[in-house]
Amino acid sequence: MKHILYYFLSVVFISSGICAQEQEDTAPKKGHTNTNKFKQLYDEFSTPNAYRAASGAPGYAYYQQQADYKMDIVLDDKNTTLSGFETITYTNNSPDVLKYLWVQLDQNMRAKDSKSPLIQAGEVDPVMYPSQFTKKYLKERFDGGFNIQEVKDESGNPLPHTINRTMMRIELPKPMEKGDTFTFSIKWWYKINDHVNDGGRSGYEFFPEDGNRAYVIAQFFPRMAVYSDVEGWQNSQFWGRDEFALTFGDYEVNITVPADHILDGTGVLTNRKEVFSKIMMERYEQAKKSYNTPVVIVTQEEAEAKESTFSTETKTWKLKAENVRDFGFATSRKFIWDMMAVKIGDKDVMAVSMYPKEGNPLWEEWSTKAVASTLKTYSRMTFDYPYHKAISVHAKRQGMEYPMICWNYGRPKEDGTYTDRVKYGMMGVIIHEVGHNFFPMIVNSDERQWTWMDEGLNTFLQYVAEQDFGEAYPDALSEKDEHFPSDRGPAHMIVPYMSGNQDYIAPIMTKGLNTYQFGNNAYGKPATALNILRETVMGRELFDYAFKEYANRWKFKHPTPEDFFRTMEDASAVDLDWFWRGWFYTTDWVDIGIKDVKKYYVSSEPNTYMKDIMKERGIKKNQLRPLVFMVEEGSEDFKKSMKDQDPTEIKTVKEYLMDNFTPQERKAIKAPKYFYNITFEKPGGLVMPIIVEYTYADGSKKKETYPAQIWRFNDNEVSKAIASDKEIVNIVVDPNKETADIDTANNSWPKQEVQGEFDSFKEKIQG
Ligand SMILES: [Zn+2]
Repeated sequence: MKHILYYFLSVVFISSGICAQEQEDTAPKKGHTNTNKFKQLYDEFSTPNAYRAASGAPGYAYYQQQADYKMDIVLDDKNTTLSGFETITYTNNSPDVLKYLWVQLDQNMRAKDSKSPLIQAGEVDPVMYPSQFTKKYLKERFDGGFNIQEVKDESGNPLPHTINRTMMRIELPKPMEKGDTFTFSIKWWYKINDHVNDGGRSGYEFFPEDGNRAYVIAQFFPRMAVYSDVEGWQNSQFWGRDEFALTFGDYEVNITVPADHILDGTGVLTNRKEVFSKIMMERYEQAKKSYNTPVVIVTQEEAEAKESTFSTETKTWKLKAENVRDFGFATSRKFIWDMMAVKIGDKDVMAVSMYPKEGNPLWEEWSTKAVASTLKTYSRMTFDYPYHKAISVHAKRQGMEYPMICWNYGRPKEDGTYTDRVKYGMMGVIIHEVGHNFFPMIVNSDERQWTWMDEGLNTFLQYVAEQDFGEAYPDALSEKDEHFPSDRGPAHMIVPYMSGNQDYIAPIMTKGLNTYQFGNNAYGKPATALNILRETVMGRELFDYAFKEYANRWKFKHPTPEDFFRTMEDASAVDLDWFWRGWFYTTDWVDIGIKDVKKYYVSSEPNTYMKDIMKERGIKKNQLRPLVFMVEEGSEDFKKSMKDQDPTEIKTVKEYLMDNFTPQERKAIKAPKYFYNITFEKPGGLVMPIIVEYTYADGSKKKETYPAQIWRFNDNEVSKAIASDKEIVNIVVDPNKETADIDTANNSWPKQEVQGEFDSFKEKIQG
C-alpha cells in the first residue's frame, strides 16, 4: 500500500514538474558511474587467437599471402597514357580454400562512371572562380579508369572476371588450397590524369613554359587485395580517401619511357650502365662515398638543356625489389637528381632527391639532407631501414608515399624566394613521407580500414624526426626559431580540435572515409596521444622500448590496432586500456582543474565534528583517548582553538603522539606544519594523470603526478590531503601544458584570469 502511495505521489510530482531535485537526489551520482573508464577493453578488442597472440605479437599460426609481380610498363608521353602487361604469382599461405581472387583497380576511382563524385554532398557555391565554375559545370569528367584488355592464366586461357568498380574478382580454374600458387596475367592501359588540376595521388604536372610533364606514377597497376585472418578479402572499395591495403611480394618491373627522361622508382636499378651516361656513373660512384653533401647526378643545367629535346627514342629502366608491398616511380626529362650516402647500422643507404628546376634553390639545399636525417631517426626509433635507398621527388601539392619513393610539395616562387611556411612545409612533408617507408610500407597496416595506424604513428615519429633534423641542421632553421616548428605533436596544438564542436568530431577508431576533420582525426590526435603517452604517461624509456617492440614484431607483417595496443602494454607493464579507451574510442577531451583548496592546522581542542559526536553519544572530554583534531583556517573552530597561539606550532603531535615512538624514531619523524585539502575537478571526459606543481613560500617548487587511476572512484572530483613543512602559495595543474587540457582557466590556485578561452569553448560546444 505504501509503495502504491509513494508511486502515486511521484507521478504527481513529476507531472507537476517539481520532482527534478528529488530525482537528482535519488539517482546515482554521476561521479560514481565511471568504472567503465578503467574497464579493460575486452568488449572492444577481438579475442586473441592462433594468428594474433594476446601479447600483441603475431600468433604461432600467423600467416600472410604473397603476391609477386613481373611487369612491362610503357609510358606514352605524347598521349599521356600508361600501359602495362603484368604477371602476378599469388601464393595462398592461409589455411583457407580460395575460390576466387580480388584485384584492386584503384584507377577506376577516376573512371567516367565512378561513384566517388556522387558521395560528395555540396550546395551551389554563391561565388566561384571561373576555373572552378568551368570544372564543376562545363567540363566532361576526365576518364582515367583502367581499360582491362585481358586477364589470362599461364597457358593463355582467358579467366572469367567481374569488375565491381575499383575491385575485380577473378574466378580460379580450381580452388587454391593452402600452399598453392597461381600465376596469371593482366593487360591494361589508362589515361594519366593531371594531378595538379584534376587531383589524385599520382599523375603528371604539365609545365606550359616548356611543354614538359613531370610524372609521379603510383597505384598504376592492378594490385592484389589483401586476404587475412582479420578481414578475409579486404575488398572495401577505393573512394579516393582511405588509402591502401597491400600484400608483400617481389617485383621485377621494366619501364619504357622517352630516352631523354630520368627515372627512379621502387627497387634496385639493375641496368644502370644502360641508362646512365658515363658522367652520371662517375658521379654516382662519388655519391656512394659522400656522407654529408649530396652529389648531383644530373645537374640543373643538364636538365634544362633537355627541356626542349622531346626525344622520340625510348629507354627501358629495369627495377627489381624484394619484399615490398607496392611499387611507384617518377619520370621526366626535367628532373635534376642528387644523392648521398647515409650510414644505417652497418649498411649504407642512398638518400636521393629528384626535382624539376622549379623546386630550386630549396630542393638542392634541403631535400636529400631531410631524407638522410629522417632515415636515422626512424631507424633509431624502430629498426634499421632495410632498403638500399629512399627517394624524395618534388611534385606540386603532393605528399604521398610508396616503398623507397615519395612525392613532396614545397615550391619556391618563380624568382626563387620562399617563405618560412614553404620551407618548413617542404621539410616537414619530406620527413613525413620518407617516414611512411616504416609505417605502412614495412609495418604494413591496413590503411583502407585504419588511417591512424600509419598516419598517426608516422606523424608522431615525424615530430621526433623534425626535432632531430632541426638539431642536426641548425642552418635549416630560420633565425627566429630555436627548434623545428612542428605543427603536430606537441599537446597544446591539438586543443582547438579536441575542444571543437562535438558534432564534427569522430573517435580515432573510425574508418578514414567516414571521419570529420580527417587531418586532425587521423594524423594530429593520434600523434599527440602517442606523444603524451611517451612524455607524460609512460616516460620515454618504457614507451620507446614498447614502440620499438611493436615495430619489430610487425615489420613486413600486417598488424591491427589491437596488436599495437596490446604490444604497448605487453612490453611495458603499463595498463593503458583507460588511455586507449578514452583517446581512441571516444571524442572526450581533457579538462582538469583545481576546484578548491582548504588550509588546516592541528589542534588539541575537539573541533565541531568531534563535539557533535560527543554530544550525540554523551561522551565527556576527559573520557576521550588522545586524538588529533584538524581545524580549517578561518573557521569557528580555528578561531576558538588557536586564540593567540601560532597555528603552525604543532603541540598535539609532540604531546600525544611522541609517546608512541622510541627516541630513535622521533629523530626521523617528519614535522609538517601546514595541512591542505586540495580538491581537483575534472569537467573533461578523459581521465588523465593530474600533474601538479606546488610553489612554496620560500620560492621553491615541487612537481607531483597523480596517476590517472586517481579518478577511478569519482569521475568529477577528487581530493588530496597534503601535509607540508612549508607553506604552499601557489598550485598549478599541468604547468607545462603536456596533457592537451582545453581549459586552463581552472588550472591555478589562487585563480588566475585566463582570457575568455573557456567561454569560447562553451559557445562552441553549445553551438
Ligand atoms: Zn601520411
